[in-house]
Amino acid sequence: MSNLLALVPLLPAAFALGWWTSRRIAAHRSGAEVSELSSDYFRGLNYLLNEEQDKAIEVFLRLAEYNRDTVETHLALGNLFRRRGEVEQAIRLHQHLVSRPGLSDEMKTVALLELGEDYMRAGLLDRAEALFSDLVAMDAHAPSALRHLVAIYQHERDWHKAIEHARRLEVMTGEDEAPMIAQFYCELADRARQHGAHGEARDYLDKAFECQPDCVRAFMLTGRLQSENGHHDDAVNAYEAAVNADSAFTPDILPPLLNSYARSQQMARAEGFLRDMLGRYHGVSPVLALTDLYRKRDGERAAIDFLTAQLRQRPSVRGLMALIDSTMDKIEGEARENFLILRDLTRKLLEGQAMYRCSRCGFGAKAHHWQCPSCKSWSTIRPIHGVASE
Ligand SMILES: [Zn+2]
Repeated sequence: MSNLLALVPLLPAAFALGWWTSRRIAAHRSGAEVSELSSDYFRGLNYLLNEEQDKAIEVFLRLAEYNRDTVETHLALGNLFRRRGEVEQAIRLHQHLVSRPGLSDEMKTVALLELGEDYMRAGLLDRAEALFSDLVAMDAHAPSALRHLVAIYQHERDWHKAIEHARRLEVMTGEDEAPMIAQFYCELADRARQHGAHGEARDYLDKAFECQPDCVRAFMLTGRLQSENGHHDDAVNAYEAAVNADSAFTPDILPPLLNSYARSQQMARAEGFLRDMLGRYHGVSPVLALTDLYRKRDGERAAIDFLTAQLRQRPSVRGLMALIDSTMDKIEGEARENFLILRDLTRKLLEGQAMYRCSRCGFGAKAHHWQCPSCKSWSTIRPIHGVASE
């Protein structure tokens, strides 16, 4: 039964293939030939339905020898195999198709693109790269081949080649790839920074800004670079620019920004900036930062008053947690025990929570990624706003 259920998604496509093949065969052949081809076809379909894919492929390949019009059928079947994870079968089928004499250039290109996708799915990235590079060199159906190459170079973290091919893609399609290319430059900048090559990192950041003047990641990296060099005034400028470029990233930007305010002794500027944020940003991070600032400057009472007033306007579990922590010291006896339970529950609630989500595919994550691990889009993973998160 489970075998049968697994095949259910196959059926419409398989019958469509059958209808198409029979129709084409009937149009071209006659009499005994038609009945032989039809019986071959049904034998192949039967093997397919019984999960005897090797035998099915033999039959379908034999059909292809008889009839040169079955290219689309083969492409559809190969695609089906790949989608079902039967990558070896898909590769065999597409390789056979590619090597077939008399195939039109257009169909050969399509078959090669399919074969390249099979290789990618099988993890044979070097073979896929070689195949797509040949296609690009031949100038055949190049946009898809270029897109695949950009994906391969991202996977291999070869950012220079990724940039080169993304630029070629831009020229070919006229589509704007600048935000993605800016991310590639940020990757290079961050790598240089980690190796202590700060001058090189700054050059890459300049290139990122050339691609995307409001690139929030490039501002954040600039801030980090300045801070690591002890230039905390400049770090503050860069981090504030990052918040202004895209306030969605505030929860990630505030901790290093607050550190730079403190290091450059600009706490009045910090208060002004955070106060200003309260009016235009609805998350809880600036509230928590201001609470901390007031605690250090004006004492616990002032901090709790500010936090309580803010939480009435923007309910937040993280805010509640901060309130419990602040209040804890003032409580004794049974009430304190109850508060401990409440704090424990609140902490557990926050622990199980995804703090980030991809706006494209819905992937949830506890930590931030610039490239979505699931759909591979850039800058789509953002902090979640809501009572239990930001
Ligand atoms: Zn995604």
